[in-house]
This record gives sequence, structure tokens and C-alpha cells, in this order.
Amino acid sequence: MDECRWRDRPLCTRRGLPVPFVAAVDPATGEGDFRHLDPELTARLVKFRLCAVCGDPVIAWHVFLGDPAALDPGGYFMEPPMHEQGALLALGLIDQATRCPFMAQAKVPRRPLETGDTLVAPMYAGPRRPQVMAYTRHYRPGKMPVIGGAPGQVQTVFYPGTVARVRTFGFDERGWAVEEVAAGAQDVL
Ligand SMILES: [Zn+2]
Repeated sequence: MDECRWRDRPLCTRRGLPVPFVAAVDPATGEGDFRHLDPELTARLVKFRLCAVCGDPVIAWHVFLGDPAALDPGGYFMEPPMHEQGALLALGLIDQATRCPFMAQAKVPRRPLETGDTLVAPMYAGPRRPQVMAYTRHYRPGKMPVIGGAPGQVQTVFYPGTVARVRTFGFDERGWAVEEVAAGAQDVL
């Protein structure tokens, strides 16, 4: 089992949360940019098969979080792969205090986009569909136009290889992620 060393990540000075590896940190303030993927860090992640949360190599399973549509033929994930522990952390299932505010809640506070912002995940707007957690040994990156971005602006997306296991998460009445366990479900890993 790959260990996710998220505890070694720097803490965002504003949110007090570990800043994921793929998020840029403002060197002046120490504030992490949780909403956007840093393009250079994302390229490193893909090249060296790293975890988006801790930045260490993923040895066994690349774990993706996203919309169930990502599992349809030709579907893709908009969030980069993580260690399993990193994905559980992002959803607030290890410790609600360190959840990712943009992954773990049904609704998130929004602010108007600023010039130069990249809208990484338009599905963040409004009520969320259940999220899936997909385990795969392989993936390939792709490029998609940025919704609301400048003409020609693209972002990296992630096409999963064979998915060996899927876990599904809904949201409780407070908006927190909760795993939905299907009757008779069995782990295949
Ligand atoms: Zn990790």
C-alpha cells in the first residue's frame, strides 16, 4: 500500500489545511491556491506518476475522484490522481478538519473568477452529483479547453486505464461526503 505523506505538506496560512502538491503557494503570503492546478506541477505529476496530494510517486493504484461520467467510455477525470489516502483525506474521511473544501462538500463558497483564473472544475458549482473514487494502475493525460477561459486555453485532464475498483460517495444533509456502500459489494483489490 502506498503511503500518502500529506502530513509533510506545508499548511496554507489562510485555510490552515495541507496544501496539495499540485497547488501553487503564494511565496509572499504562504497561501495555497486550492482551486487551480499549477501547470508546471501538473506536468511533473504526469511525467513522474506522482500523487497530487503529497507529491510522492504512486506505486500501486492511481486513485481518482470525480463525477461518475468520468467512468463512461471516453470519460475523463478533471482532478489529478492521488494515493488512496490522499483521496480519502480530500473527501474528509480521514479527518474532517483537513478535508479539501473543494472536494468534500456538496456546495462550496464561490467567488467571482479573477483575470487569469483557470476554472478547473465547473462541476463545483451548485449541488453535486455523487463522487466516484476510481482505482487504476494506468492513465493518460489529455488536454481540454478551459470553460470560460481565454481562446485556446487548455487544461490537463486524466483518462483512466482499466478501473479495478469504484467507490461511490454521496453527501449528507450537512453537505459532507459519505460513502455509499452497495449491498453485496466486494472489494476486488
Ligand atoms: Zn500521496
